[in-house]
Amino acid sequence: MPQQCPFCYFINNKPEDIWVVGETENFYAWLEYPEPRAKGQTNIVPKEHKESLMELTEKEWDEAMGLLREIVQSVTIGLDADGVSVTMNIKEAGGQMVPHAYIQIFPRFSGDENAGTPTGAIFSKKQEIQSEEVFQKVQSSIKDAEVGVNKPLKQRPKVSKRHMESTEEQEEKEKEEEEKEEENERNKNAAEQWKRMKRGSY
Ligand SMILES: [Zn+2]
Repeated sequence: MPQQCPFCYFINNKPEDIWVVGETENFYAWLEYPEPRAKGQTNIVPKEHKESLMELTEKEWDEAMGLLREIVQSVTIGLDADGVSVTMNIKEAGGQMVPHAYIQIFPRFSGDENAGTPTGAIFSKKQEIQSEEVFQKVQSSIKDAEVGVNKPLKQRPKVSKRHMESTEEQEEKEKEEEEKEEENERNKNAAEQWKRMKRGSY
């Protein structure tokens, strides 16, 4: 345990101050205490010290997501929440306030003043990153990093068109494509509608 980790301190020395609402082998789900920003605000926290969420193994990520899902359901049923926001703040610039990984769960209530405001609304729109040129650069910078925490991108099979062997299959494929096109059209309409919405972010 590092010198100044409040979470490790609570886990090891003050378990009476931890308001546990869920637990797995490697994680606690505890209520934000003593000053929650929402009724039932919960943190998913690894029991062992992890500097950030990026230190979790693939198995631990799965475990945390399972617990997260459980808590989202529990606050929805138990507190009658109308919605839930989940945030992961990674590293100081990302808003991580404690040097010990955590995932935050905020139950949302339709009667609240901030109901309907997406958590992403803290990001204001920036004109200078809206050009196609910037998008191209950003896209290649991210894709070229080829990190692949669990499965490196390089090793992922490329999507290829299925080889057609018979007319029957061909017809079936055409039908599928037609349906896909119709679906795309519906999605396109929805996307355009979404773009027209005045919401600052999502
Ligand atoms: Zn710690």
